[in-house]
Amino acid sequence: MEDFTQHKAQLIMALRGQGILSATVLSALENIPRELFVPESLHQHAYENASLPIALDQTISQPYVVARMTEALELTGRERVLEIGTGSGYQAAILTLLCRRVYTLERLKPLLVTAENKLRSLRISNISFRLGDGSLGWPEAAPFDRIILTCGCHKIPDKLLNQLKIGGIMVAPEGLGKNQQLVVVKRQEAGFERKHLMAVTFVPLIEGKQDE
Ligand code: SAH
Repeated sequence: MEDFTQHKAQLIMALRGQGILSATVLSALENIPRELFVPESLHQHAYENASLPIALDQTISQPYVVARMTEALELTGRERVLEIGTGSGYQAAILTLLCRRVYTLERLKPLLVTAENKLRSLRISNISFRLGDGSLGWPEAAPFDRIILTCGCHKIPDKLLNQLKIGGIMVAPEGLGKNQQLVVVKRQEAGFERKHLMAVTFVPLIEGKQDE
C-alpha cells in the first residue's frame, strides 16, 4: 500500500488557500481515499488538484470543484441529497459523510457498478444507486433537500428543480463549452433564487435512453 498522507495534507492546504473554509468539507476530503476512485495508472496523481480521466471517457472532478460544490450545498448532516452523474462515485462518497442519505443516478452501467462496489468496500451504506437518465430526477424519492448535478447542461431541467424542497439548494454547472458556470439555486416560497459561483468545465449531461 502506498502512503498518500503527505500528498493529502498538501492538497488540503491548497484547498484552504483557495478559500475552502468549511472544516467538515475539508475533513470529508481528508477521509475519503481519492486514489480508490482514479484508475490505478493514475494513483500517483490522485491528490493533485486536477480532474482526471476515469473509464468510458468520463472524468472525476477536480478536488477544488468537489469542495466548492459540496460547500455550496450547506449540509448540516440531516439532508437527503440527489446526485446526478455518479461517475467514479467520489463526490457521492464525500456527500455520504455530510448528509443523511445520498441518491445517486448514472446513465452508464459499468461506472455505476464500479462506484457501488467502491463505496461498499469503504463500508458506506447511506446511499442508493440507480441506473437511468438523471435529467428526469428520482420521482419516487423526491422531494430532496439538496440536488447536485455533476454534468453540464444547457439549462437546468425543470424536472430536477421541481424535485427540490422549498428551502432546498441545488448546485449545477449550466451553459456549455467555455461559458459554463456553476450555479447555486435556492428554492424559496416565491420561486428560485440563482447565484453564479465560478466558471467550470464538466462533461455533458446526455438526456434520453442510456447506452450500456
Ligand atoms: N460526480 C462524478 C463525476 C461525474 S462525471 C465523480 O465524482 O466522479 C459526469 C457523469 O455524469 C458521467 O459519469 C456521465 O456518464 C454522467 N451522466 C451524463 N449524463 C447523464 C444523465 N442524463 N443521467 C445520469 N448520468 C449522466
